[in-house]
Parts: sequence; C-alpha cells; structure tokens
Amino acid sequence: MRNHHLDTLKPLKTTIAACALAVLIGGPGSADAFSISFDYRFDSNNFFDAAKKNVLDSAAAFFESRITDTLDAIQPGPSGSGFNNTFTASFSNPGTGATQDVVDLTVPADTLIVFVGGRSLSGGTLGQGGPGGYSAGGSQAFLDTVTTRGQAGVSDDTDFAPWGGAITFDNDSSTNWYVDDDTTTDEAFAGSDLYSVALHELGHVLGIGTANSWNNKIVNNQFTGAASTAVAGGNIPTQSGGGHWAEGTSSVIVGTNTAQEAAMDPTITTGTRKRFTDLDVAGLQDIGWQVQADSAQ
Ligand SMILES: [Zn+2]
Repeated sequence: MRNHHLDTLKPLKTTIAACALAVLIGGPGSADAFSISFDYRFDSNNFFDAAKKNVLDSAAAFFESRITDTLDAIQPGPSGSGFNNTFTASFSNPGTGATQDVVDLTVPADTLIVFVGGRSLSGGTLGQGGPGGYSAGGSQAFLDTVTTRGQAGVSDDTDFAPWGGAITFDNDSSTNWYVDDDTTTDEAFAGSDLYSVALHELGHVLGIGTANSWNNKIVNNQFTGAASTAVAGGNIPTQSGGGHWAEGTSSVIVGTNTAQEAAMDPTITTGTRKRFTDLDVAGLQDIGWQVQADSAQ
C-alpha cells in the first residue's frame, strides 16, 4: 500500500506556456534519430552539476531509444522566397519562473530542445514541466513547419510535435535528491529520485497531460485513447483536470511483467523509483508519437 503521509508523498506538478498559431505541411524529415537536447543557459541557480546532467541524459535516452518520429528543423532567418522568418520560443524560465522568450531559436531536425534548471518550488512539488509556446512570422511554409514540424496530424490535433519546452526541478534544501550514477540498475536509496522525476517531466514536455491530442481524448475524467485502453483493458481514470493518470494508477514496467505505479500519475513516494510503464508509453502513442516496441529494459 502507498504511504499517504504528506512528508513522504511529494506531488509533481505541471505547467505549460501559452501556445500560438496553426496550419499544416512541412519539408522532408532527416535520417537522424529522435533526440532530446537539454539547454542549461537558464540554470541560474546552478542546480545542475555533471552527475545531475548525466541523470537527465539517461532519462532522455529512454525516449530517444523508442520514439521514431521525424521532425522538421525550425530555422529562422531570411528565406529564399524573400521572407524574413522569425521564431520566438516562450516558456517558463526554470531559474526564475518568469515567462522567458528566446528570439530566433534554431531547433535542429528530429530534436526537441528542453530548457532546464532549478529553483524553489512551493510545497512538496519536485518538478514542473511542459511544452513551450512560441510566436512566429514569415512565409506560410515556415509557419507550417513551426506548427507541425512536418507531422500531418498536428493540424487536426491527432498528433503533437513541439519545438521542446522547459523543466524546473526543486532546489529546496529540504529536498534530498537521489542522483543515480547508473539508472539501469535498481538499488535501495533515500530521497527523491531525480531520474524518475526527469522521466515524468519529459512525459509532460512530450504532451502527456498537456497536448491537445491528449486532452481531446479525455471524457468525463477518463482517458479514452486506443493504445492506452488496450493496455488497461478499458478507459483510464485521470486526475481531475486531466494532467495525469489518476493517483495510484498501476501498470507494468516497460519490457517486464513487473507491476508499478504509472510514471505519469501525480506523485512519487520518497525512496522509490518509477520507470515508464506500458500505460505511460501507450499514452505517448495516443498523443501521436510513433514508438517502437521495447526489446529490453
Ligand atoms: Zn506531472
């Protein structure tokens, strides 16, 4: 059973920046593999050292080894057709919580850029994450690329292809982060597992609880996506508001028969790790991500 004492249950919250613009089309995808690129320029409180960056890379690797979508590059600047294409990424500054703009951010093909940092988060919140918003101007082709990154289903909210987003981790001295030097092995530990929280917040950046293609599959506080209901054997209750699976939702760890509380429910218990489960991965598929079958974990 779960421990429901408030000092051991720490909620994870999500936040998203405003979004703008819409339409379709895009150029050819590249042959590069899907990649999550972390940007530390707004880690103004110096939360991240090499060991913590290594944990983030391990969490990104989980998604990079499974997601096979191709994403068009966002390359602002003068275009051949005479337009000056502009793109301003907008997100919650992880060091301050203020809305942050980055003017003419270049986003490589098949890549999401995720701005990360640490600051004090209220209450027991360990992390906040979500996709970023933007404003853009220029040729129609450029605007289409910014909106869809070449993924046809984005325009009718059956797919999701952001430029990236932002994640903030709590840096309160009372939060004892467990910074694992090898996340492939499980061992006893105290504290809050940075790897688990990184997976969870990347799940929000990828659209779980945040994308239109997620939200439009929620009916009466139940998620109705086909892949997820196939895994769960029916609709899946969500947290009120739809930002997560309902508290205590269970599935099995990807590639195993090991039962575990889903990574994308709202909380994690101190001293435990939550890997992505079959249900969490199915949620990604229902958002529109192409996910290849797992061979080993
Ligand atoms: Zn969350």
